[in-house]
Amino acid sequence: MPVKRIEHPESIIPRQVGVAPGEVAEKGLLTLPGESEREVEDLAGASYLTTRVDTLVNWARGNSLWPLPFGTACCAIEFMSMVSSHYDIARFGAEVVRFSPRQADLLIVAGTIVDKIAPVLKKIYEQMPEPKYVISMGACACSGGFYRAYHVVQGIDEIIPVDIWVPGCPPTPEGLMYGILKLAEKIKRGEIKRG
Ligand code: SF4
Repeated sequence: MPVKRIEHPESIIPRQVGVAPGEVAEKGLLTLPGESEREVEDLAGASYLTTRVDTLVNWARGNSLWPLPFGTACCAIEFMSMVSSHYDIARFGAEVVRFSPRQADLLIVAGTIVDKIAPVLKKIYEQMPEPKYVISMGACACSGGFYRAYHVVQGIDEIIPVDIWVPGCPPTPEGLMYGILKLAEKIKRGEIKRG
């Protein structure tokens, strides 16, 4: 589906109409043989687990996400709550928070994205090494929230691809944690592929 550009003379960054996940090439899902290919073989009385290298790599990637929080507003506080001891995201291997895009593979956009900060967000996304994933956290990042205004990006998929959407204003720490677990599941199944 061709991407429709938004004619927005006052905007300082090219913007496009956001579309639902899976409707453009860079967000497309491709299901590869994954978990189902594993077989336990019984050979000479011992058990062997056979798998594919990409299945093993995806399993490792899904269990060792390094998040970079792009927090611009109140949603970032909920993020801080989620990485703190009460919720303990370390149980799922995603506690290594990094503030350098070179060292992170999960961009969590938490807060309102205005037109001025949009190029910064895009640059940070581009500086992250592949493979990289994006979670849009909260109503503001997902849709502009209640800011129906010319200066607010009406969903970060106007500028970068998104893998997981976490709704709410603000989303609860449990909601964000659920989003991370769903992302890990998709990665482990080998479903995320950029075009
Ligand atoms: S979605 Fe709600 S809590 Fe999150 S940044 Fe926007 S106004 Fe704040």
